[in-house]
Order: sequence, then C-alpha cells, then structure tokens
Amino acid sequence: TGITELLLSRIRDVADYPEPGVVFKDITPLLADPAAFAALTDALAGVAAETGATKVVGLEARGFILGAPVALRAGLGFIPVRKAGKLPGATLGQAYDLEYGSAEIEVHAEDLDADDRVLVVDDVLATGGTAEASLQLIRRAGARVAGLAVLMELGFLGGRARLEPALAGAPLKAL
Ligand code: IMP
Repeated sequence: TGITELLLSRIRDVADYPEPGVVFKDITPLLADPAAFAALTDALAGVAAETGATKVVGLEARGFILGAPVALRAGLGFIPVRKAGKLPGATLGQAYDLEYGSAEIEVHAEDLDADDRVLVVDDVLATGGTAEASLQLIRRAGARVAGLAVLMELGFLGGRARLEPALAGAPLKAL
C-alpha cells in the first residue's frame, strides 16, 4: 500500500553500525519528513484504537519519539519505560539478557494499574528482548497488555516467535 512504501522509503540502511556486520535501520529521515511522520503517527494511533488501549507505553529512546505523538493522537496518556536509574519516583524494574551481559528497564509503579490496557510502542523489533521485558513489566505492574506496535520488524531475528508467551494472545502489529 501507499503508506508502507512511504515509510520504507524514509528508513535508511546504515551498514556496519553499531558494529561490523550489522545493518542498522535509521529512522531519522522519516522523523524529518512531516508527511511520513504524520502517516506513521496516524497508523500507530489506529492500532491503539483497534486494540482498545487505555495507555501508551514508549520504550526509551526512539519509542518516546513515536509513542508520545501516538498517545496524543489517540487521546491517551503516555508512560515512559526507561533504562534503569532515570526515573525519580518509586519504580518497578525488569532485567533482561543482551548478547553480552544484561540490561534493566523501569517504569514508575504508580503509572499503571489493573484498569489499564497498555499498547507498547517502539521503532524496531529486533530479537524481541526489549519488548519482552516491557510486557513482563506491564503485567507485573498489574496492568493488561493491549498489544505491541512497531514501525518495523526485523523478521529474520525471530522476535515475533520469542514474544508469543509474553504477548499471550495480544496482537503484535508491525507497519
Ligand atoms: P531487541 O531488544 O533486540 O528487539 O532490540 C530492539 C531495541 O533495539 C529497540 O528499542 C530498538 O530501538 C533498538 N534497535 C535494534 N535494532 C535497531 C535498528 O536497526 N534500528 C533502530 N533501532 C534498533
């Protein structure tokens, strides 16, 4: 369709970044194009409406850039999930494994409760480790998962299969 072509045309492949052999998907040309950015925001806000989300969670850092306008467009609150140590209030944390070592993400505990259905927004789904940790965090905060919406899925990395248990039937939408 038109929107897929438009979005793909604004994503730049950067070879050997951040390390040799990796092709990085750079979304900054898309962000710099107001028509493409608006089309992306509208499409993701449509997913928020379809899934019955009551809040939008954005994953640091590019998930903030996409998630905040999606939340506004959908008329929902925006909740940041940050790397550990950045949020000033009482937090819940979730550790997850990286290729080498581990990482931890956090959310303000008071931002989510049992009445919430949360749509998680990020730019790129790769191995699924980050998204999986965010879904676990949302459930541990007592909220329900409405779905996961990303601009782009790197299918060859198998993130979708990895996320099946954490999604527990909630939709994964990759534009
Ligand atoms: P995963 O945890 O392996 O799925 O990696 C996903 C996280 O890394 C997301 O928060 C993305 O923003 C980031 N990421 C991984 N690969 C890329 C890429 O090619 N372009 C932009 N972000 C990426």
